[in-house]
Amino acid sequence: MREPKFSGKKSTISVNFHRTVVVGGLKVRVELEPGCWVRGARLGLMANHPVAGSARLTTRRTFEKATPADLDAMIRRLRAAKCRYAGCKNPNLVGDGREPGNPKAYCERHRLKDIVTAAAKVQAEIDVKQAIVDAAWRGKGYRYKATVWIHRDDRDDEAVVLYLKDKPTPARLRQEARRRKSRILDDVHVERL
Ligand SMILES: [Zn+2]
Repeated sequence: MREPKFSGKKSTISVNFHRTVVVGGLKVRVELEPGCWVRGARLGLMANHPVAGSARLTTRRTFEKATPADLDAMIRRLRAAKCRYAGCKNPNLVGDGREPGNPKAYCERHRLKDIVTAAAKVQAEIDVKQAIVDAAWRGKGYRYKATVWIHRDDRDDEAVVLYLKDKPTPARLRQEARRRKSRILDDVHVERL
């Protein structure tokens, strides 16, 4: 990437700065936080380790005023703590403050596992609500549920759900897709209630 100039002066830190440092026996890659070199932005660093995860380092210094000594001082604050997941012996990389993407201070494996678990919980809640809706339609005599995906160039893909008493024919579903100006007419899914 090209080095930016600030008031005619070249910054003392390269926008391509990166360094590998050893923290608690771990080889950690440190690089500039994306975008921290734009005018007026504060210097920020992002440290990464495949097992210990990532950590941010922040400073009040703007990128244009910061010096390599600021980088060194920030990097010295990196620590390896123990993953907070009960029984886990993996390290967790710690920078300045709590990581918004890792509030439980887990190692990378447990952080990712936690995201999957949380997503599954949300999905389970959605499934329960959907099952209640489906049961209500079934109670009214509807036996089929068709999902018609609408693909349009002028907006995001959208699913249209139809409840039907009889099994819908492909032509019936295509008609629905055409009516909503989908450029794909047969992206449908039909299930029995
Ligand atoms: Zn862990």
